[in-house]
Amino acid sequence: MPTIGQQRCPICGFRIAPVDFTICPSCGTEFGIDTLDHTSQELRDIWISNGPRWESTVDDPPDNWNPWQQLVAAGLSYAIPFYVGVQLKGPEGVRQIPNSGLVFA
Ligand SMILES: [Zn+2]
Repeated sequence: MPTIGQQRCPICGFRIAPVDFTICPSCGTEFGIDTLDHTSQELRDIWISNGPRWESTVDDPPDNWNPWQQLVAAGLSYAIPFYVGVQLKGPEGVRQIPNSGLVFA
């Protein structure tokens, strides 16, 4: 069974257990309420179109919080509305992770 620390918000990828009636501080989604009328993709599109910004006015974001890195870390890089490319030089040649937009060399 995953711990809370391993679970992520399905909307924005923030590390939180998406339990009904809790609110994600990152994207502001209230699970079990906002998720009744909207798909995860719809809520994510709304969040991204509004910044994306840290939504909580109670909890501060983690140090160096970056919504784009959060989306990538959660496997949601396809939702990022611009191309992200990273290329690193290495002895084994160019390597690309499928569907990530990331290229490693
Ligand atoms: Zn969220």
